[in-house]
Amino acid sequence: MGISCVDRVSAFLTNIDTKKHLNVFLSVYGQEALTRAAEVDSRIRSKTAGKLAGLVIGLKDVLCFQDHPLQAGSKILDGFISQFNATAVQRLLDEDAIIIGRQNCDEFAMGSSNENSAFGPVLNDIDNTRVPGGSSGGSAVAVMADLCDVSIGSDTGGSVRQPAAFCGILGLKPTYSRISRYGLIAYGSSFDCIGIFGKKIEQIALVLEVMAGADEFDSTVSRKPVPSYTSELNADPNKKYKVAYIRETVDTEVLQPEIKKLIVEKIKQLKNAGHVVEPIEFPLTEYILPTYYILATAEASSNLSRYDGVRYGFRSKQVTDLESLYKKTRSEGFGKEVQRRILLGTFVLSASYYDAYYTKAQKVRRLIREKTKAIFSNYDFILSPTTPSTAFKLGSHTSNPLEMYLADLFSVQANVAGVPALSVPCGFDNEGLPIGLQVTADDFEESKLFQFSQVIPNLV
Ligand code: GLN
Repeated sequence: MGISCVDRVSAFLTNIDTKKHLNVFLSVYGQEALTRAAEVDSRIRSKTAGKLAGLVIGLKDVLCFQDHPLQAGSKILDGFISQFNATAVQRLLDEDAIIIGRQNCDEFAMGSSNENSAFGPVLNDIDNTRVPGGSSGGSAVAVMADLCDVSIGSDTGGSVRQPAAFCGILGLKPTYSRISRYGLIAYGSSFDCIGIFGKKIEQIALVLEVMAGADEFDSTVSRKPVPSYTSELNADPNKKYKVAYIRETVDTEVLQPEIKKLIVEKIKQLKNAGHVVEPIEFPLTEYILPTYYILATAEASSNLSRYDGVRYGFRSKQVTDLESLYKKTRSEGFGKEVQRRILLGTFVLSASYYDAYYTKAQKVRRLIREKTKAIFSNYDFILSPTTPSTAFKLGSHTSNPLEMYLADLFSVQANVAGVPALSVPCGFDNEGLPIGLQVTADDFEESKLFQFSQVIPNLV
């Protein structure tokens, strides 16, 4: 007899209590999770339970879970309660997953350290003076510190893979459009992807299988059939792959020496194991980050215009007329980084600068996508570091936004191109902090990513 769902939920609740100082959960649905666990236990006994029976899941504070609070880490959504379930959340529930709580994150998923949350930063469980990464910092630490089995986050420019790397766990950003965005709070809609954190690739594959697929509530979601990722996991373990690495992502000054050493070692080991690994040039590398920050802020400025003090959550008390209602609510309700991005986004969309910035960035995005796709006509994967450094100290990058944006250097290419990518924990630096390597594949090749993720950590 296996351990019951009620026992597993109780154990996670105890861990959550012991690790309160990490500031991971904004709400814990303790009683509710226990009640549901008991129901799932009885369905398991009667052999009527779903595919995820007993899997305990945490949700980043950007996913609608009906009748539960939702704030995107922001004061502007104070008091807001979800009216419906996100499609992804509904599908988890339909397969008997147990939702244990709502996880802290950077405000509106904007950030790389979780220091932009209105609820304070999340601490890295390996070293409490360090950040967990962001924006899905709470979701990463929840899995790292055994506060749930799997977390669901969002990845617009690296927000699942970067914190996964900083916390020594797996983090998947699927192909854009693989999972419905219905019920995911919008940041940059043409980049936003729901992503998955876990310690076991089997669980990530299973959860993706459940959440992915067509949805009448999201017109951008793919109608491609969803493969059985779990049954394809171990297909041909001896397969030899062709792997590319972009020379500038390995031969670069910005890379922490231990990360460089690790990736060079992995390249050697892959070759020894009979895989083809080759350096390639990607002349557009320097344009990836600017393209992302122009387009993502433009989309954010439009998406966040709905938070006006009329329709949702928080409203300023200092209001005298309609204009002051908008201005005061948005000035008091949004934090500094969100305001900076709305201003930047509004600027790049303004009549006199639209062509110089927004239109230009769209064209460069197209080129980046085409050139990235071209790599996959010759190679199965692109291998890179997930991040230029391991988890940095709290407060070390907060005064310089550009320095913070550099944390996304390697992760944004997958979002700009729309392709899937997975961060795999592969080692530690000299201070014992985890290092993640990133594997990127062509559109809809998640199965291949999962297969390869089992090859890399075990190379010798
Ligand atoms: N760090 C990036 C940003 O701040 C990515 C965020 C994300 O993926 N949500 O925009």
